Amino acid sequence: MSQPSVDATKSSQGAGSGKLDMEGIPLPKAEQRKRDSLFLKEPLLTELGNDLPNFSEDALQILKFHGSYQQDDRDKREKGKDKQWQMMLRLRSPGGRIPTALFLAMNDLADRLGDGTLRATTRQAFQMHGVPKADLKEVIGTIVRNLGSTLAACGDINRNVMAPAAPFDKGGYPAARQLADEIADLLSPESAEGSYLDLWVDGDLSYRIKAGRKVNAVRKRQFEGAVFSGDQQEPLYGDTYLPRKFKVAVTVPGDNSVDLLTQDIGLVVFTDSNGGLRGCNVYVGGGMGRTHNKEETFARIAEPLGYVAADQVLDLVQSILALQRDHGDRRLRRHARMKYLLHDRGIQWFRQELMRAYFSGDLKPLRSEPKPKLNDYLGWHRHRAGMWFVGIPLLCGRLEGAFKQGLSKIVETYQLEIRLTPNQDLLLCNIGTPQRASIRTALEELGINTPDMPAPLARHAIACPALPTCGLAITESERTLPSVLERLDSQLQRLEIDKPVLIRMTGCPNGCARPYMAELALVGSGVNQYQLWLGGSANLQRLAKPYIQKLPLDQLEAAIEPLLLSWKEAGGRRTLGDHVQKLGDQAVSELLNA
Ligand code: SF4
Repeated sequence: MSQPSVDATKSSQGAGSGKLDMEGIPLPKAEQRKRDSLFLKEPLLTELGNDLPNFSEDALQILKFHGSYQQDDRDKREKGKDKQWQMMLRLRSPGGRIPTALFLAMNDLADRLGDGTLRATTRQAFQMHGVPKADLKEVIGTIVRNLGSTLAACGDINRNVMAPAAPFDKGGYPAARQLADEIADLLSPESAEGSYLDLWVDGDLSYRIKAGRKVNAVRKRQFEGAVFSGDQQEPLYGDTYLPRKFKVAVTVPGDNSVDLLTQDIGLVVFTDSNGGLRGCNVYVGGGMGRTHNKEETFARIAEPLGYVAADQVLDLVQSILALQRDHGDRRLRRHARMKYLLHDRGIQWFRQELMRAYFSGDLKPLRSEPKPKLNDYLGWHRHRAGMWFVGIPLLCGRLEGAFKQGLSKIVETYQLEIRLTPNQDLLLCNIGTPQRASIRTALEELGINTPDMPAPLARHAIACPALPTCGLAITESERTLPSVLERLDSQLQRLEIDKPVLIRMTGCPNGCARPYMAELALVGSGVNQYQLWLGGSANLQRLAKPYIQKLPLDQLEAAIEPLLLSWKEAGGRRTLGDHVQKLGDQAVSELLNA
């Protein structure tokens, strides 16, 4: 067992006084901004009080940690005129759980102060768009008062912790959900939470996260050894927080609904016959974001770190985060995710450094797991005796118009809890057997007759919002996905191919909809042009590869038809992703160029 020791690189981060790092080099602007923010408060607090429609660059970067992005409606841009500023808000909802009152409050806020829609994200949270700066305090304050939070939904910090959305009471599901909640509490920032409550609910500390005894005991160890940042007020993060965003997901063996290998930390729980947590398989170093034409940036899947016993899981998670806090690349933001640390230094170094300085527990070899599956939980399921949930497919996660109103009526009438899936679908939970028939009828009135049978291509397709709200979007994504699916569906029917394809789409290479895991992905790369990625697996275990750099969208069917025909001719049950993998790069490229 190794002894923790304080790493030299972080004492300067914790000191919080100078503008130079340990080597006497000026801190990059993004790092200095965090340090100057008084634990993520300024200049946001000051600028909230002015009448301007938008925040300064310094304030909007800090705003991200509060779960909000400043955007403008790009459809409404006019030359010579000011942008029409609006805020996007994202919730923190571990495991995608949204209590009844919170959903109803969000629904009302979206109608009154947003653009009238809600959007389920690929990280199991709701997003609101179109909130004017002047209404931000009312919106976030209302969310907090309804026991929601947007803290750390964006920014260089641990993001929303994912877990299987299904509320099953069986197997490891309750343990996975509990662990996700504990990790969310464990990794929540100490002082920034105070800033958050100061800004949005006038410092009402009664809304502080109330972690359980177990989590509080581990949080105390954030003041010890190398896990301690050196900053008494923000012991785990220090005043410069993390180099970049950090993502954690928890699941049960065989259930890959959370896209486990795309996370910075992926945990697979093992439980005893009573559902008690025994330990976890741990994977580290996944991440999707990349930049076009920068070969040093790439998507990466997480690799195995080892198995950890139940009583050491939380310590291990905060140790890994502390290691990335200290060793992640703060000089170059596009190289700052933990995946690059794993890539550059290797898993052996990572494990040794972790055990040398940060984690005093044991790491054992991985336990074997069944083959993972992308579970979606659509349709009706019993989650315990007398209680049901129904999974409803939402294309691109968007709730709007009469459907949103009808759904909120059902939620209110039957006081249902909502859970969001990483596939941008929605589960209505806690339905008693006597309520089933009337809820089924109410859903039919909304056009949901067979929730378990959406169109095959739409079932697992996801897209990021892209235009018109995302400032980084190069192309359309959410607004175009339905027509792309329709076109591909027609093509498959014409070719008499009766197998689904896992399709994902994003408006830029940042990868918010995890496109690089799909069997077929379109990633915006130019005006109405997309990179074509092929070869991921249907159960999200393998990275796809880019085969065409700039494919005009109207040439999609022509480009892939020879490949689809070769897939058909190969016969059998092989998926398109596996077919691409088997053919190999050269054969696939030849078919695409045929
Ligand atoms: Fe915006 Fe790019 Fe993310 Fe899409 S993938 S939401 S375009 S940053």
